[in-house]
Amino acid sequence: MVGKVEGELRAVAKVHHTKNMHESSSSYQIDPIEQVRVFEEAELDVLGFYHSHPFWDSLWSKADDETSKLWIGYVFLIISLKTGATNAYIRKQDGVEKEDIAIL
Ligand SMILES: [Zn+2]
Repeated sequence: MVGKVEGELRAVAKVHHTKNMHESSSSYQIDPIEQVRVFEEAELDVLGFYHSHPFWDSLWSKADDETSKLWIGYVFLIISLKTGATNAYIRKQDGVEKEDIAIL
């Protein structure tokens, strides 16, 4: 997700779809080559990443915690395909906090 930080609000202007290297519905890893390309080509700031939880609620999971540890300050948007709900979290040094984001 790329966009702008406006005061306290992160505003998503564009999303880049990337391949799930795990080819799984229960785990994911963004293709690192695509990820680097998005960082290099983005005209706006990379705000964070989104993924879906196909069978579960859009709540932060243990797997989300493990895979996000190196992305301090980035937003993780989780979309539940089960309920349609979304939740955004921002990764902090010592955990995560729910975050409000705007979709432009
Ligand atoms: Zn997740």
